[in-house]
Amino acid sequence: MQLIWLRSDLRQHDNTALSAAAERGPTVAMYLISPEQWLAHDDAPCKVDFWLRNLRTLSDSLMQLNIPLLVRTAATWAQAPAVLLEVCQHLGIEDVHVNQEYGIHETRRDQAVHAALQAQGIGFHSYLDQLLFAPGSILTQSGSYFQVFSQFRKICYNRLHMALPKIVAAPKAQAELPIARDSLPESIPGFATPDQTLRDLWPAGEDVAQERLMRFASEQIHAYQNERDFPAKPGTSQLSAYLAAGVISPRQCLHAALRSNNGEFESGSPGVFTWVSELIWREFYKHILVGYPRVSRHRAFKPETEFVPWRNAPKELAAWEQGRTGVPIIDAAIRQLLATGWMHNRLRMIVAMFLTKNLLIDWREGERFFMRHLIDGDLAANNGGWQWSASTGTDSVPYFRIFNPLSQSERFDPEGRFIKHWLPELAALNKKEVHNPASAGGLFGVADYPAPIVDVKQSRERALKAFKTLPLRQMLEVQHD
Ligand code: FAD
Repeated sequence: MQLIWLRSDLRQHDNTALSAAAERGPTVAMYLISPEQWLAHDDAPCKVDFWLRNLRTLSDSLMQLNIPLLVRTAATWAQAPAVLLEVCQHLGIEDVHVNQEYGIHETRRDQAVHAALQAQGIGFHSYLDQLLFAPGSILTQSGSYFQVFSQFRKICYNRLHMALPKIVAAPKAQAELPIARDSLPESIPGFATPDQTLRDLWPAGEDVAQERLMRFASEQIHAYQNERDFPAKPGTSQLSAYLAAGVISPRQCLHAALRSNNGEFESGSPGVFTWVSELIWREFYKHILVGYPRVSRHRAFKPETEFVPWRNAPKELAAWEQGRTGVPIIDAAIRQLLATGWMHNRLRMIVAMFLTKNLLIDWREGERFFMRHLIDGDLAANNGGWQWSASTGTDSVPYFRIFNPLSQSERFDPEGRFIKHWLPELAALNKKEVHNPASAGGLFGVADYPAPIVDVKQSRERALKAFKTLPLRQMLEVQHD
């Protein structure tokens, strides 16, 4: 008997480990509930709820193949080897199959499980699935991990030109097993159930994810390059939660994008090119996580930036976290995050830059806050995004290129539609004033809306000074395209 241990690969189709297990013989599936580990990783309640909802639909579809889903608890991953061993011995499992996960804790967990199973003569097989390219397979000529995205992407494209990663055939139905599937808990203590409005934005299941992908690839992808930066428009795929939980695979995304562009990714539709580039950014940050494990330990990629004199400013941090900084684009973005579990990419950059530059607060505070609220929270992408914005990361924005949140707001939300949606108290302002209500004049400003907690120009100078004092030669040289 074979066992597929499901983790961040909650789908039946194009699931490498599942198909490999089913290929070898009768298969059962297993999922581990690890509340303490998830709390330690700051996994958001809405994300945990999304996992459970997807597992429920997956359990139903696996049942159609007569593959029962077992659910076990290992409060922390330290207990994973014992729990796996117990299940394997009880059911007479010969081999365990997993799709690789990256990050220090995930790697350690899998090594420990592998060793425990091996000691009892049980096989442990892990597969490349979450990525198009295995970490360590895209290296510079001198054999190290790339630090510059454009160079990394170039090699990825060369590889894709040679051969596209193939979609794996779905497993066939097997004979019924005398093993009952387990039911899934409705919720997990320590993780509040999100409200129904949030849940409705992210329906569970592979079918939903595929429909989203198909709609995006047939209708919106060609406008992606022009529309993706405007948060009031539905210009992006909104697939990140599904990709992070593995409800959809990057191979399926890549193939769908190429199908809508006659198989091309470097020529033809600029929208397709740009979208595939984003999938490669996802790839890039996961390779960085493996190649430079310090980022997995929340260390700055650029060691010298560990010396930035971050401010301890709990009141300003709280205002940022609660969406009451008095800078509408920031507050609207945070309210979007709190209400939906998701934030538009342009806004993630603007709010991250505001926290780390204008407020000069440590990027790790923002990273943790995002993880605690994002439905698509992913260590590699989140850490990469934060370190990019804070100018502490690989290939990150040079420290002196500080976004002005007010001009970003005017540029990417020109009519103020996004702002007014999330800050109805600003509905009466015209499209100029809405970006900066303080400029609207009047003795009292806008009722119910705070005055800005920071002066954008002065705080910019403060950030420049803080970064300038560091040994920064290298930071001046980094490029970002
Ligand atoms: P699309 O624009 O449709 O892109 C398609 C897919 O490509 C996304 O679903 C995502 O999987 C991937 N992708 C796109 N942009 C990036 C990027 N810059 N880095 C890595 N992958 C990318 N993304 C996450 O998935 N999880 C996170 O925790 C996360 N945290 C972020 C934090 C900050 C500070 C920043 C600046 C970015 C972060 N991102 C994160 C990247 C990006 O903002 C989201 O992937 C994107 O907004 C998701 O929306 P979408 O699915 O509509 O993306």
